[in-house]
Amino acid sequence: MTDRITLFDTTLRDGAQTLGVDFSPADKTAIAQALDSLGIDYIEGGWPGANHTDDAFFGAPPALGRSTLTAFGMTRRPGRSAANDPGLSALLNSGAPAICMVGKTWDFHVDVALGIERSENLAMIGDSVAEVVARGREALFDAEHFFDGYKANADYALACLTAALEQGARWVVLCDTNGGALPHEVEAIVATVAETVPADRLGIHCHNDTGNAVANSLAAVRAGVRHVQGTLNGLGERCGNADLVTLLPTLALKMGFDVGIGPDGLKRLTQVSRWFDEHLNRAPDRHAPYVGESAFAHKGGLHVSAVAKDARSYEHVDPDAVGNRRKILVSDQAGRSNILSRFADLGIAVAADDRHVDRLLEEVKRREAEGYAYDGAEASLEMLARRMLGQVPDYFRLERFSVTDERRYNARGVLVTESEATVKVRVGNRLEHTVAEGNGPVNAIDIALRKALEPHFPTLAEMRLVDFRVRILHASEASGAMPRVQIESANGDGARWSTIGVSTNIIDASFDALGDSFAYKLYRDGVVAPE
Ligand SMILES: [Zn+2]
Repeated sequence: MTDRITLFDTTLRDGAQTLGVDFSPADKTAIAQALDSLGIDYIEGGWPGANHTDDAFFGAPPALGRSTLTAFGMTRRPGRSAANDPGLSALLNSGAPAICMVGKTWDFHVDVALGIERSENLAMIGDSVAEVVARGREALFDAEHFFDGYKANADYALACLTAALEQGARWVVLCDTNGGALPHEVEAIVATVAETVPADRLGIHCHNDTGNAVANSLAAVRAGVRHVQGTLNGLGERCGNADLVTLLPTLALKMGFDVGIGPDGLKRLTQVSRWFDEHLNRAPDRHAPYVGESAFAHKGGLHVSAVAKDARSYEHVDPDAVGNRRKILVSDQAGRSNILSRFADLGIAVAADDRHVDRLLEEVKRREAEGYAYDGAEASLEMLARRMLGQVPDYFRLERFSVTDERRYNARGVLVTESEATVKVRVGNRLEHTVAEGNGPVNAIDIALRKALEPHFPTLAEMRLVDFRVRILHASEASGAMPRVQIESANGDGARWSTIGVSTNIIDASFDALGDSFAYKLYRDGVVAPE
């Protein structure tokens, strides 16, 4: 039987401490449901009694199928009984079936931060766990600053764990609260702790301050812990928490543990990770292990021909196992094998000796010399290839566009800058002529173009422009400076794609990138060009 590792997600509690992240109760519900659909064992929803958001969330908790909703809080205050502690009551009243309480285990913190007798701190831990267990809930104990505490006074740190375990805590979780521990220290300390505490009741909670949150968690697992805490995409204050999205496949695929989510759960990992970033309105990390867009991307010609023969030659796991996909990048160094693999990837059947392969390769090289870079703009590459093969209908044809920018004082005397775009496009045999205002020239063109196209292609309303990047090429030759515009678009279903445009005129480059993005969306939807 494979060893089972219990996963505990704290995205909604520790992750909510991330700078710039502010979850509403509705966000929390959506994220909890995504975690539940993956099959994560515990979902820590927040701290009841600490703020309105968490009260609202626990007041109307999401219906969970597989995950256990957990409330976070502190052990009882000094000098009170657990039964009369308002903080503890708020945890119990939240109705959460599991309760995770944090307490001190570092004698220095007990002496200085709390300023209480060390025996009272032990009693606070034991009493609180006993109260939670007596009220029929599962108790977990987060041993704050455990590794620093253990280094300072191992006996006392262990006594804190024992106090929780003796009163029935299901898990005692060793927290590297400051994130400063290193993997070899974690492995050595956990191994010693496991001589006293049963490893199947030990957990680990790591922060990424030395870039080792995942490595520390794995070191702890090697030393025996069977409960791992972390967050989606490594969210968390400062440098983040251990990234569950990296830990899950590593534990399952490389170390052979049962992480409770099964092969089907693992296959949903890429989608959940990207959905989460989408929900946070930030671009997913292309280089994220396992789930990043570049995680299984191959660029060098040599790599590509080897991968085409046997993927194991340059891939550490099968991308399919985590729901990701292999990606062949076409670039300046591209050889025929790159182009052929990319074609296969796009589902385009073409013979190795097809003349289109050489023509496309030539075209890509010519454009890259001009400043196009297709390694991050696959949708434009796909449009280029499919147009060359005659597969993309002529959805619309630009007759002309113009943009004006105006900076002026408005009726209220406020200085404003507004753009107005006029677009004339032909759709089938209809000529559309539209005008729109925007907060900038690209925005104005985007709106004007949508006005012209949406009556013919209603699905365009499902996509939006989410990122716009400009890079100046050949900046040293002032007269020859060339802006390269890259646009990222997102669809309602979570799909994202990037398109590119290059021109000496930035608006012109933007128009090309925008046009490619619309065409890609229509092609993807299988839209037929109107007569
Ligand atoms: Zn933490």
